[in-house]
Amino acid sequence: MTKVEPVPAARKIQVVVVGGGAAGLELATRLGAHFGRRHFDIILVERNRTHIWKPLLHEVAAGSLDANLDEVGYRSHGFAWGYRFFYGTLDGIDRDTRQVLIAPILDEDGSEIMGRHSIRYDYLVLAVGSVSNDFGTKGVAQNCIFLDSRLQADRFRSKLLDHCLRVSRTLQNDPDAEAQVRVDIVGGGARNDLLNRLTGELTGFEIVVGSPESSTMGNFAIQLASLAGDYTPSTGVNYAAVVNWAGELIANSSPISVLSGSSGL
Ligand SMILES: Cc1cc2nc3c(=O)[nH]c(=O)nc-3n(C[C@H](O)[C@H](O)[C@H](O)COP(=O)(O)OP(=O)(O)OC[C@H]3O[C@@H](n4cnc5c(N)ncnc54)[C@H](O)[C@@H]3O)c2cc1C
Repeated sequence: MTKVEPVPAARKIQVVVVGGGAAGLELATRLGAHFGRRHFDIILVERNRTHIWKPLLHEVAAGSLDANLDEVGYRSHGFAWGYRFFYGTLDGIDRDTRQVLIAPILDEDGSEIMGRHSIRYDYLVLAVGSVSNDFGTKGVAQNCIFLDSRLQADRFRSKLLDHCLRVSRTLQNDPDAEAQVRVDIVGGGARNDLLNRLTGELTGFEIVVGSPESSTMGNFAIQLASLAGDYTPSTGVNYAAVVNWAGELIANSSPISVLSGSSGL
């Protein structure tokens, strides 16, 4: 009987998208839907298992949105739209061998589930987004909760609720006690006003707000800093100098206003 040699399957073209945020998720979905799995392998690498649209983080933080109801699970979404989801954190790229390097995956107790590994790519898209810039504003890095991820939004909500409980208990025991809940918000971005209002309305507490101008100045300064690059010999201005200057300007010039909450505890 003649032996039939197996025909090697043609190697699929592998497109790797790292980061399943607003850009990466949309791209992987469209690529998966358009090219499918026959000749292409569309792979989304993301360090979270679910996606929630970042502009909703204010509502998650204030407690007016249950993130579990609004999030998208990458694995089932990928199955429906023709891409494969790889859970993990990118920690390097080997451009010579065209591979992305994925950090070891640990369980919640810190035990390793999977060691450092790599994924081959023919085309690579990095869509890892960005995080908030505090422009060097004093005390922000040490004392503030940033709103860049669901984890941080959840943490803010838990801390707020815990503190409400603490104040409530104190006032029950001593109605004249000085206890109060005060939320200070740094940054005047597009959704800041919403977070302030929601937090004030839901808790009935006083919300202290820095001026929106600080955000405008921050944005302006960062554009200027990127124009300056590392160093501009003619002006002597560099990135760090512009960012420091902006931090000082914002700290010294922004008036603070207070929104009063409508109800008590
Ligand atoms: C609180 C808040 C409110 C906002 N409100 C608005 C608004 O009202 N209107 C508006 O237009 N824009 C708003 N934005 C901005 C908007 O969310 C961003 O412009 C947009 O999300 C950027 O999309 P992106 O895909 O580039 O990055 P992201 O959406 O940040 O996605 C990046 C993804 O990459 C993943 N990632 C990062 N590093 C790694 C790694 N090493 N390995 C694997 N995965 C990684 C992250 O987990 C994340 O899922 C807001 C942003 C925030 C934080």
